[in-house]
Amino acid sequence: MSDCLFCRMVDGEIPADVVLRTDRVLAFRDINPQAPTHVLVIPQAHHATIGALAEADPALLGDVVAGAHAVARQEGLVTGDGAEPGYRLVANTGPQAGQTVHHVHLHVLGGRGLGWPPG
Ligand code: 5GP
Ligand code: ZN
Repeated sequence: MSDCLFCRMVDGEIPADVVLRTDRVLAFRDINPQAPTHVLVIPQAHHATIGALAEADPALLGDVVAGAHAVARQEGLVTGDGAEPGYRLVANTGPQAGQTVHHVHLHVLGGRGLGWPPG
C-alpha cells in the first residue's frame, strides 16, 4: 500500500469525487474548494512536482494539462464562443508555495473572479 494520498486515490483505496479518468490521468474535486470549480488533476503515475514530471515524462505532463482543459470545458469554463469565463491552473511547488501533497497536481479553479496576484 502506498503512503501517498493521491496514489491511494488512483488505486481506489481512498474515495474521490472523480470528474475525469483517462488511462493516465485522474481528476477529482478538492475536499476544501476555494472556488465554485476546484478540481485537482493528477498523473496516475507518482511524480512529486510539476518540474520533476516535465523532466521525467513531458508527454504525461501534456496529458495532465489537456485533462485540466477538458475538466474546465466540462465545468462550463471553456465554451468556445468568445464569451467563456475561463479558469486558472495552479501548481504549487515546495513549501513557500504551499505544496502539501507531494504527488503533482494541477488545481483547476474557476466559476468566480480570481484576484491577481494571489496572496
Ligand atoms: P497543495 O496545497 O499541495 O497545492 O494542494 C493540495 C490540495 O489537496 C489542497 O487543496 C487540499 O484541499 C486537497 N486535499 C487534501 N487532502 C484531500 C483529500 O483527502 N481529498 C481531496 N479530494 N482533496 C484533498
Ligand atoms: Zn503518489
